[in-house]
Amino acid sequence: MDNNRERLLKIENLKKHFKIDRNTVLKAVDGISFDIYKGETFGLVGESGCGKSTAGRTILRLHEATEGEVYFADENVHTKKSAKQLKKFNRSMQMIFQDPYASLNPRMTVKDIIAEGIDIHGLAKNKQDRLNRINSLLETVGLNRDHGNRYPHEFSGGQRQRIGIARALAVDPDFIVADEPISALDVSIQAQVVNLLKRLQKERGLTFLFIAHDLSMVKHISDRVGVMYLGNMAEIAASDDLYAEPLHPYTQALLSAIPIADPKVERSRDRIIVEGDVPSPVDPPSGCRFRTRCPFAMDVCAKVDPVFQKYKKDHWVACHLYDEDYNEDYKVIQ
Ligand code: SF4
Repeated sequence: MDNNRERLLKIENLKKHFKIDRNTVLKAVDGISFDIYKGETFGLVGESGCGKSTAGRTILRLHEATEGEVYFADENVHTKKSAKQLKKFNRSMQMIFQDPYASLNPRMTVKDIIAEGIDIHGLAKNKQDRLNRINSLLETVGLNRDHGNRYPHEFSGGQRQRIGIARALAVDPDFIVADEPISALDVSIQAQVVNLLKRLQKERGLTFLFIAHDLSMVKHISDRVGVMYLGNMAEIAASDDLYAEPLHPYTQALLSAIPIADPKVERSRDRIIVEGDVPSPVDPPSGCRFRTRCPFAMDVCAKVDPVFQKYKKDHWVACHLYDEDYNEDYKVIQ
């Protein structure tokens, strides 16, 4: 417990490395630690290739962790081995995918897709109960009963995402990883899906890990936000705090990239521009991984990996600019 918030997940030094060949290891997630509180939405952002989706999948055990722990309601998810225990976790923790079409079996009717979890976990008392559950889920996500008899290709992207959400809800989970659930949708549909997720969270007391590649997408849904860069966590803060006072140069750059509607404000604001692409996670830079793109990089940044530390209440950052013994004489190298 922290400030009366009940912790639902604890992620501790989580690592997921993929062996490419005998001499090459891709460090997709390389030691991240954070908590997720019950009933909150934790937004996880970063450019493509920063490890956020791998982190989400490793938390759910869709990937085996290379190192580190994930605790769900104080139980270690990654040491649970019996089929019964795994089934319990699989029911409590669900996923909504970025591309709803790719994740829906094209040969199954929507009602059978939604009922998969109901069948696996034996939740329906009989055929009628199964159908009632499916119909109720369809209505919950804004579809109607007739939709159950159709196939995924008959639906728009937004509707398909609603089917994916109904499928995740079918087993009555506590925690959902939503992996870029709106990125593939038209802008006009994105707000509808975000509003649906918000309503479901309120009605069902759900906890979300909401993964997105830009900060504007998580702004309206997240209570707290974590910013990942090259497999590491750069910053975590309450959502309002992160947008009002971003500390890490990478977070500042991501915020700078969000256009402001007012052209006067847009013209007058200070922008932090980062150039180039994210370096390869196979061979990340020494010290701070952001140093090759950071406009404030100092000589110390190449030598020492900054510690992920608490800057103030609920606000954590990994950057030498906020070190307690920060030395004004550090030489900026760019
Ligand atoms: Fe930039 Fe150095 Fe901070 Fe890394 S530690 S973000 S390179 S100032």
